[in-house]
Amino acid sequence: MTRLLRTTAMVTALVLIALLLPVGAFAKTLEEWMEGYDTGAIWFGEDFHYDITNEEACWELLMKPITVLDAGQKEMIAPRTGPGQEYPKVNEDKLGGTINGDAAAVHVLGEDENGWTKIEGVDYYNRIIRGYVRTNLLKEVTPNKEYGIIVDKLTQQLYVFKDGKLWSSCAVSTGLPNDEQPYNETAAGEYLMVSRVGDFDSEGMICAMALRFNGGDMIHQVPYVFLADGTKRFSTWEAKLGQRASHGCVRTARIANEDGLNMRWLWDNIKIGTKVIVWDDYGRRQPYPEDSLELYYNPNGGSYYHGDANCRSVKERYLPLTGFLYSELDGEEFADLERCVTCMPVLRKSEIDELNLARGVEPPAKEEDVAQPTGDEDAPPSSLDTSLVHEADEDEVIIVITPAGE
Ligand SMILES: [Zn+2]
Repeated sequence: MTRLLRTTAMVTALVLIALLLPVGAFAKTLEEWMEGYDTGAIWFGEDFHYDITNEEACWELLMKPITVLDAGQKEMIAPRTGPGQEYPKVNEDKLGGTINGDAAAVHVLGEDENGWTKIEGVDYYNRIIRGYVRTNLLKEVTPNKEYGIIVDKLTQQLYVFKDGKLWSSCAVSTGLPNDEQPYNETAAGEYLMVSRVGDFDSEGMICAMALRFNGGDMIHQVPYVFLADGTKRFSTWEAKLGQRASHGCVRTARIANEDGLNMRWLWDNIKIGTKVIVWDDYGRRQPYPEDSLELYYNPNGGSYYHGDANCRSVKERYLPLTGFLYSELDGEEFADLERCVTCMPVLRKSEIDELNLARGVEPPAKEEDVAQPTGDEDAPPSSLDTSLVHEADEDEVIIVITPAGE
């Protein structure tokens, strides 16, 4: 072949490859969607200490009045680049660039300019959008004084505060965004519980007792499907509690903890006007579990490690399982064991490092490897299961977030 022919053949091949690639291959990546924006990670300020054990500070934040946009709770307000309707919207990505009415807090950044005021708020992509809205939309609201809710994306727990004290917590799944659906992220920020939506069907998945807190994002029970015999199957989604998995909603435990907390309890007790705070995980370190933490396995050929000596995924004749220590997990004997998806034990250190890196946090220096307080106030108590796995959610259908999302 001549040089020209070779080149022509190559170009043709490239064009063919380009045509065969799915359109999605050319879409932006998550990182590109976020480029140039501040994220919900700094909503509470750069120096904010995420410490759920500081009850006084948490309660103060939960009781502090917030400013919301006085519009319908399904309405999305798009801030403009200048003080007037004639200015373009700050951003017009799909489901992005807007602040949800009635529920999502905004910070007022300026004074009234001809009926418009500069504000900032967090959009569905978890981006801080700064722009102008009509001044008459600004409404200050004092939250309900009885309870307050903090959802922490790092620990994947929902914490209920009552009368100034942390009362109880339970596992949740917050949003798992991807390149195609960056709006699946559960946006950090401050919100008001605005309505009792009840049960809704998200393409066959039933999401029960939904409480709306941010447009299409709600706190609801972990989804279920009906089996042919009319029984409900929760297992697919319950196995993911404690990890990101949803399309933006906060899926909440069905099975009550020792305090009685579950979605049913929230549905029965949480009033409209209660503040819901969502803490971002970006820049925060997920700590290693204690080396002395006990794990379990089946020495008779088991291929998983477990957090529960009587894990219900294991046949009864192998129970109770044999214990070993977290410090031994990466040793030769246990190196090949996979993590049980039923009892969801803690992650390996290498996996925690990977998740931390994705949050922009470098692994600790080797000498800090021993799990002990490192003076990192951002770290939650190590007794919490902080496992987070970013995995593809193949058995779930894709749905649109608004008006009733999932
Ligand atoms: Zn297990």
